[in-house]
Amino acid sequence: MSVAKTRKVAAIVLAAGKGSRMGTSVQKQYLNLGGRPLLCYALEAFEHSPVDQVILVTGAGEEEYCRQEIVERYGYSKVAAIVCGGKERYHSVYEGLKAVHECEDVLIHDGARPCVTEEIICAAMEGAVRHKACVIGMPVKDTIKMADDNEDASCTPDRSHLWLIQTPQAFSYELVRTAYDKLFANPPVGQNITDDAMVVELMTRQKVHLVRGSYENIKVTTPEDMEVAEIFLRREGKALLSR
Ligand code: C5P
Repeated sequence: MSVAKTRKVAAIVLAAGKGSRMGTSVQKQYLNLGGRPLLCYALEAFEHSPVDQVILVTGAGEEEYCRQEIVERYGYSKVAAIVCGGKERYHSVYEGLKAVHECEDVLIHDGARPCVTEEIICAAMEGAVRHKACVIGMPVKDTIKMADDNEDASCTPDRSHLWLIQTPQAFSYELVRTAYDKLFANPPVGQNITDDAMVVELMTRQKVHLVRGSYENIKVTTPEDMEVAEIFLRREGKALLSR
């Protein structure tokens, strides 16, 4: 048995975003991807993982739809609570953290990343045990430039030190809860909080370890991402419909 399996672990699956960059009337987490709502794939991955409980965070007024049309319909028995998210991603995470019941570690995952695998989930769980804080990511392949306000390049960071950060992000529950409690006690002004590692970095002295995931663990944001995700899911035998 792996070291992570001896601990109680929760996963927070975030699906409270508006998904405006998708440009569709239906929110992206409910769009049909290979025969099922996009959100199902992440829930399915956690259902078949060693995670003990799943907290699903949805948009206001979508809780009942999610319960009936997703959780009950597809039989996700690990979903212990469905809670309403907030304005920004970090508000939604805090609602999820408050709903976690007696777990030592917590994984925070974007519901918009359908290609997450059991292997990646286990790597994140192991990382939480070994390092207290870790994020799944991959080294960048492209050169990255900083831009100034005129969209002129202002600098080119050394590519060998740059990673694309994905989810799950995994932490000791106590650590990440303390970091979020501190954040909400003193809300940031003018700071764009885009992931959980950033909250831990800003609010605690804990280092966050980077754990290799997969270039296929993409976040579905714009329409072409749906096509790419479907190719990956079909190859894994996860997408239901044949073309
Ligand atoms: O906006 P972004 O692409 O970073 O969203 C990543 C994930 O966070 C998505 O799964 C989205 O549904 C979720 N989210 C959320 N609450 C928000 C904004 C985003 O749960 N207010």
